[in-house]
Amino acid sequence: MNEWDTRILLSDLAASLFARGFSVGSAGNISARLPDGYLMTPTNSSLGRLDPARLSKLGMDFRHIDGDKPSKEVFMHRAFYQARDDAGAVVHLHSTHATAVSCLPDVDASNPIPPLTPYFVMRIGRRMPVVRYYRPGDAAMEPAINAAARDARAVLLANHGPVVSGKTLIDAVYAAEELEEAAKLFLLVRGQSPRCLNASQVDDLLTMFG
Ligand SMILES: [Zn+2]
Repeated sequence: MNEWDTRILLSDLAASLFARGFSVGSAGNISARLPDGYLMTPTNSSLGRLDPARLSKLGMDFRHIDGDKPSKEVFMHRAFYQARDDAGAVVHLHSTHATAVSCLPDVDASNPIPPLTPYFVMRIGRRMPVVRYYRPGDAAMEPAINAAARDARAVLLANHGPVVSGKTLIDAVYAAEELEEAAKLFLLVRGQSPRCLNASQVDDLLTMFG
């Protein structure tokens, strides 16, 4: 896919997420890896109204080289790209249910959402750890995300929201959507002793689709 097609796809997917309530106001940001750098949603932009021609273009070293100024949360994306060679795109949302789970004190911080459905396992993988709370803009958040992302395709930032990677833009967006649905299901069945997929069922999925 050439850069212009990637710009159009990123803007279209962002508008779709916004239209369905996965993002409100100027919350959330999306990036994609290019052969010569990265595309990133601009600072203070709404996912509902991105101009493909004005997306921020960053060089291989993440310096801003073209378009509007990048999101202040660009370091979350850099943490994933530098941790994972397989990350072709990164989506960060403040989506309601995933963020609600990120505020629960009594979940397993190494894997707060259990494998309730195969689709969560297929999109997110074996585990999605919680990264402890950091004040927005705190420089210590980047190495913490980088460390957690080394063996997880997605992380949940405590009292903030999810950061999700995928091989492609479509993969990353679908994974962020599946995570939000999984968080909603988890909150619906929480306290009711739900039947989760067992370890061999999870292994089987990851062998087939991981
Ligand atoms: Zn955020």
